[in-house]
Amino acid sequence: MSHELAGRIALVTGGSRGIGRACCQRLAEAGATVVVNYCSNEAAALETLQQIVDAGGKAVQVQADVSLESDVNRMVGWVEQEVGPIDLLVNNAGVFDFLPHDQTTPEIWQRAIDVNLTGAYYVTWAVKAGMIERQFGRIVNVASIAALRARSMAIAYSVSKAGMVAMTKGLAEALAGANVRVNAVAPGLIETEIHQSIDRDRLDQIVASSPIQRMGTSEEISELVLFLLSERSSFMTGQTVVASGGRVMLP
Ligand code: NAP
Repeated sequence: MSHELAGRIALVTGGSRGIGRACCQRLAEAGATVVVNYCSNEAAALETLQQIVDAGGKAVQVQADVSLESDVNRMVGWVEQEVGPIDLLVNNAGVFDFLPHDQTTPEIWQRAIDVNLTGAYYVTWAVKAGMIERQFGRIVNVASIAALRARSMAIAYSVSKAGMVAMTKGLAEALAGANVRVNAVAPGLIETEIHQSIDRDRLDQIVASSPIQRMGTSEEISELVLFLLSERSSFMTGQTVVASGGRVMLP
């Protein structure tokens, strides 16, 4: 097993479950010391941590609601003091609601923007000063194909993810000179708990209409995240890499 991230410290937001957990595990396997952020599910974060430690990796957990600037500043300050400088950042924490436009209330809208987009902004802005100072940083934003193929049943979510893609491009250009690369992944349907607001029949229909007729796994996304954080992607910045089983090609 390659230890291409040995000596690096990685912060993964929403690392307690789903795609974030797989990223924590994959980055730890690649040699990074991983900081597992979670919002409210401490038990799940501790499970992620235990799995990493049992596999011989290094990890710590830290609570913070990424939509609260004070929480984010406390988290990043704590990590920098107790663990060390953050070299690698995965903005993964996210929420999703499957709702028609006429049920997209101001609260639903605001929560999608606050967690998915403003959360990534708070964490990135708190971390990037150190990256610039040290002239090294790798950031991956977990967007979604909804950013590229906005759906009527997830308008607020699609907007928040499109914002992440725009942030990825703008920041990549701004920070390239400081040796900070910023990329995004855009997963399609991945088997996690985030789909609780979609009923099973609807999910099955979506899967059946996709070119590769299955849901993706969190591990498939974590491989891409590792690639974008590693030096194997050394000439890539500002890119959004899609892994959707071909679904992004549908009209
Ligand atoms: P998930 O299984 O529901 O996990 C969500 C994670 O985000 C949990 O670790 C949760 O922490 C954390 N989180 C939620 N709100 C937070 C907040 N305010 N502050 C900090 N952490 C917070 O979801 P997932 O499917 O793995 O999704 C991860 C990311 O992938 C999201 O950004 C999502 O939009 C994106 N994505 C997912 C899919 C898919 O099909 N699954 C497709 C495209 C993109 P707690 O455990 O503490 O609640």
